[in-house]
Amino acid sequence: MFFWHGRRESPSGSLERCFTDSLDGVSEAPFSALNLGLHVGDDERAVRANRERVSAQLGGVPIAWMDQVHGASVAEVTLDDVASGQAGPSADAMVSRDSGLALGVMVADCTPVLLSDDAAGVIGVAHAGRPGMLAGVVPAALEAMRHLGARDISAVLGPSICGRCYEVPREMHDAARQAHPASAAITWRGTPAIDVAAGVASQLADAGVPLEWVPGCTREEPRLYSYRRDGATGRFAGLIVRKAAVS
Ligand SMILES: [Zn+2]
Repeated sequence: MFFWHGRRESPSGSLERCFTDSLDGVSEAPFSALNLGLHVGDDERAVRANRERVSAQLGGVPIAWMDQVHGASVAEVTLDDVASGQAGPSADAMVSRDSGLALGVMVADCTPVLLSDDAAGVIGVAHAGRPGMLAGVVPAALEAMRHLGARDISAVLGPSICGRCYEVPREMHDAARQAHPASAAITWRGTPAIDVAAGVASQLADAGVPLEWVPGCTREEPRLYSYRRDGATGRFAGLIVRKAAVS
């Protein structure tokens, strides 16, 4: 179920952050088993059952999902939006001040980013593929969180395709290197590549946001979904939820 799971307690409550894997779900090949993406051609009932399983593991909290479009738009979401069954926003980042609501970001090679300011009670997620990293979706999410009162944000980067595995045409590599030098990479075969997660890490460093980076390359780790490796495949997720202390 979980590739990585972390829980942090503070006087204001707890913060739970995790990245799922492809195990312990009900989807069949090529989506087996814990596919959380509704847009990839899997049976909708299976995806909904998988999402329920993940929610149950997080204590039954509702999960907000986005319609991800490889842009830099940020949406604020509330527990009421999700509880009322409202469709998820078309965006690549979400922020919220609500506790008891998990924010989810789906990936299969792109970089999932979890953001939080425990004291301010603000959380966020971002989906950073190559276009989103270059468009600045993560700095945009930080800005939206600061607008909600966040001052002391920290980040967790989840597993994604590594710079050795993400081959791109020379022109694309050069454009990325010009915008974010840290994202320039070379493949295992010595050809031009991009390290999207390194680009995101440099954006977070530039913003003064401390970072925890969960190791793992999606293309090399069989427990994780990888679009580059498999083509038709599922999506795993990064999730973050804040739970207020019971007084
Ligand atoms: Zn790799």
